[in-house]
Amino acid sequence: MNESNRRKSLIHNIAQLVVVPMGPVRGVEMKSPELIADAAIVVEGGRINYFGKRKDAPSGPFDEAIDACGGTVVPGLIDCHTHAVFAGSREDEFVRKIEGANYIEILESGGGIRNTMRAVRAATVDQLVAASRPRLQRMIEWGATTVEIKSGYGLSPDDELKMLRAVHVLATELPIDLVPTYLGAHTVPPEFENRAEEYLDSITSESLLAQLRDEKLAEFADVFCERGAFTVEQSQRFLEKCRGFGLIPKIHSEQITFTGATRMAVGLGAASADHLEYVDDATIAALLDSNTIPVVLPGCSFFLHSETAPARKMIASGLPLALATDCNPGSCMIESLPLVMSIAATMLRMTPMECLVACTANAAAVLRRADQVGSIAVGHRADLLVLDIPNVNAWVYRVGVNPVAKVIKDGKVILNRG
Ligand SMILES: [Zn+2]
Repeated sequence: MNESNRRKSLIHNIAQLVVVPMGPVRGVEMKSPELIADAAIVVEGGRINYFGKRKDAPSGPFDEAIDACGGTVVPGLIDCHTHAVFAGSREDEFVRKIEGANYIEILESGGGIRNTMRAVRAATVDQLVAASRPRLQRMIEWGATTVEIKSGYGLSPDDELKMLRAVHVLATELPIDLVPTYLGAHTVPPEFENRAEEYLDSITSESLLAQLRDEKLAEFADVFCERGAFTVEQSQRFLEKCRGFGLIPKIHSEQITFTGATRMAVGLGAASADHLEYVDDATIAALLDSNTIPVVLPGCSFFLHSETAPARKMIASGLPLALATDCNPGSCMIESLPLVMSIAATMLRMTPMECLVACTANAAAVLRRADQVGSIAVGHRADLLVLDIPNVNAWVYRVGVNPVAKVIKDGKVILNRG
C-alpha cells in the first residue's frame, strides 16, 4: 500500500447524512433510508471506514478535513443508461419535431439515428472523445460519479469498436468510473436494409466478440427490441452470443410497443430491462421473480412528450426500480440526473428519496457494483456528494437548480464549487 492508499480524511459538518443502503433496495424500502443529523464520515484509502454521529467519530490525526458546510451528504449519483458518446448534434430535428414532423418524415430526410451514425462514422476516436468530454464533465457537475455509456451509433464492427475505444480513453482521462456497454444491435444500418439477420451476423462474429472480451472494451451487451429495430428472437440471439463471450445482457424493451422482450431478457439473466413504458402485469410478475432490475427513463417521455412507465405500480409490487438519463442526441438530450429525478417526481409520482435510491443503490445494482458504490456503508468506496441544501426533498423540488457543492470520488474532492 502506498501513501495515498493510506490517506485518511474526515468529512465533517454534515447537517444531514442520507444513509442509502446497499442495492437493490426494493419497493416500500426505497422511500425511507436512515437519516443521521450532525454526522461525519471517515475515509481511509478511498473507502468509508466510519459514518455516523460526529461526536462518536474516531479521532484523528487526519490528512485532510473536508467541510460539508452544514449541507446534506448523499452517495454519488450513478447513471446506469446513457448514450453519452456521440458526434454531431440534432437540434434542427428537435425543432422540426416541435413544428410537427413525424419520425418517418425525419428518417426519410436523412435524420434520426442515421444522422448520428454518419457523424460517428466520420469521426476519429480523438474526435469522439473531444465531442463527448464536455458532456461528461457536465454530468460530473450535476453529481454523477459512475456513468454507463453504450456504443450503438457506429453500426459496423470497426465503428462500434471505435466508439468503445473512445469510452476507454475517456475513462482514463476523467476522474469518475465509466462502464462500457456494447449496443451493436441498436438499429439496422441502411446498407443492411431488410437484412437484419445478416447485420446481426456481422456484429456477433467470433473475432469481434473475442476482441471486446480480450481488450475489456465492454462489460454489458444491449439491444433495442422494437418494431422496426430487432425482434424478440433476433434480440435473444444477439444477447446469447454476446453472453457466450462474457458480456452481461441488458435490453431496451417495451418502449414504443409491448413486445414481450423483457420476459425473454429475464430468462437470459439480464442485469436490467430498460424503458418499460408499455410493461404489462405478467412482465412485472416475471421481474419480481428474477434478478433483472427495471430501469425507467422518464427524461425520454418528457423530451418526446410520450407515454411514461408505471413506476408507482412497479414499486408497489415490491420491485427495486432504477432511474437513468438515457442521454442521447435524438430522444433525450438531458445530461442531468437531478433533472431526471425532478421529472420522475412530477410525472411518475416518485418521492425525492425514491428518486435518490433509484439513482444510487439501485443503479449500482444494475451495473453489478452494489457492493462497491451507490450506498453509505463501511468498506464501500467513498463516492459522495456534498449538497448545499438541508434535505433531499429540496434538491428535487428546485427543478434545474444545482446544489452540488462538492463531488468526492474514492475519498478525493474532484469538484469543488465552493
Ligand atoms: Zn437508450
